[in-house]
Amino acid sequence: MPSRAGCNPGTRFDRSAFFPGPFGIRRRSLGSTLESVSGLAWRPVTLEEASDPWAILRRMVKTGGCACGAVRYVITLELTPVTFCHCSKCRRWHGHVGAYTAVDRPGFELTEQRGLRWYAASATVRRGFCGECGSSLLWDEEGAPKMSICAGTLDAPTGLTPKAHIYLGSQGDYYEVPDDGLIRREEFTR
Ligand SMILES: [Zn+2]
Ligand SMILES: [Zn+2]
Repeated sequence: MPSRAGCNPGTRFDRSAFFPGPFGIRRRSLGSTLESVSGLAWRPVTLEEASDPWAILRRMVKTGGCACGAVRYVITLELTPVTFCHCSKCRRWHGHVGAYTAVDRPGFELTEQRGLRWYAASATVRRGFCGECGSSLLWDEEGAPKMSICAGTLDAPTGLTPKAHIYLGSQGDYYEVPDDGLIRREEFTR
């Protein structure tokens, strides 16, 4: 499958709206910035945050990337809980079970992609990895509303929780999956 132009699956990330300092920000734009990420979980502002409004945005905006830094991304919308995929394709590609979260595409933006390469896993799915360090990063299904992200590539704290094991019907024969209270599916589930 041919690569999509620019490898940019989402809306342009407006750096000036999220980062202070060299990019600058107009004070009156803060309200609309908060509105634009209003899909996120909310809690009362702490004292520290009250004295530093940027602390609020840093909490809401998550970042991640590969092992060497040649691929970096920013997440500005809510991430889904983590699904562990035990299928043979994921096990080969990750070296073991795949752990995925996902975000609506407008909430995903690559901020560094010099290392990004794509592997056409099927006619409609491509897997993104770093060509410089080999990290597995993205699972991108054509036409899907969300971009799937390898959970291990997010910077801590991720705030993520586990949700399900899928494709247990084709898990490897070299490990067990104890009952950990998560949803269990023999095949795919969302
Ligand atoms: Zn890398
Ligand atoms: Zn899989």
